[in-house]
This record gives sequence, C-alpha cells and structure tokens, in this order.
Amino acid sequence: MQHHPCCLLCDQAPETMRHLMLHCPLSRQAWHETLAWLRIPAPIPNQEATLMDWWQHAKEATPQAQCKALQSVALLVPWLIWKHR
Ligand SMILES: [Zn+2]
Repeated sequence: MQHHPCCLLCDQAPETMRHLMLHCPLSRQAWHETLAWLRIPAPIPNQEATLMDWWQHAKEATPQAQCKALQSVALLVPWLIWKHR
C-alpha cells in the first residue's frame, strides 16, 4: 500500500494505519460523532494498539441491544476514514 510521510488528514503525524484509524484528530471526531449519533455508550478509540483491541473494549461497554450497531460502526467508520483520505 502506498502511504505518505505525513497524515493527509491532519498533517501532524506520520501516516500509519494506527494513526489514521485510531488516533488522528479527524478520525477521533468521526468516531465520536458516529457513536454519539447512534447513542452507543462505548468510548472512542484512545490508546488501543489496534482496531481489534478497541472493538473488544467497545463491545464490553455496549449493551447487547446495540451490538449490531457497534459492529456496523466498527466496519463503516474505518471505511469512511479511508475513503475521505
Ligand atoms: Zn492525522
């Protein structure tokens, strides 16, 4: 995969998949807005090493009735971030 030396969204950090999907300020805003819109009480990605680590934490913080919505968020938000990039 071709990547740029600096993040194309914030221009403040090296472009790594971890930064782009979890730690970029714009990505964090996308996570926050989406989870708040769906009223999913899971925290946005913070210090997790991978998306899978975050998902494990998020599942534990999400009521059973919202688990399907969380699964969709865990797939669609990274896709939207990537498309925006
Ligand atoms: Zn960034």
